[in-house]
Amino acid sequence: MAEQDAITEHPASQAAHRAAGGGRCPLCACSDLEGRSIIVDDGFIAQPMTCYVCGGVWTDYYRLAGYVRPAGTPEGDADWEQFLATEIVERPATGA
Ligand SMILES: [Zn+2]
Repeated sequence: MAEQDAITEHPASQAAHRAAGGGRCPLCACSDLEGRSIIVDDGFIAQPMTCYVCGGVWTDYYRLAGYVRPAGTPEGDADWEQFLATEIVERPATGA
């Protein structure tokens, strides 16, 4: 995959790590990783990561990109459990 080939330096630059989509170890570029429980705080998500190959540890940070309201989004006292169980495949539009 072209995005994963973006990591050619070790440790990877921030831009190369972003281009790889977080699926590669920034230290050795392998994909044998474990992500720990995510931490949500003020528009960011942090996920501590571990590499099974080199033993590297780091934290990936994700920034809130927006929101989507898929068709069928419930209003008021609707059945939220059923809604939340559906797979959300839409992504927020980039930009404003
Ligand atoms: Zn590694």
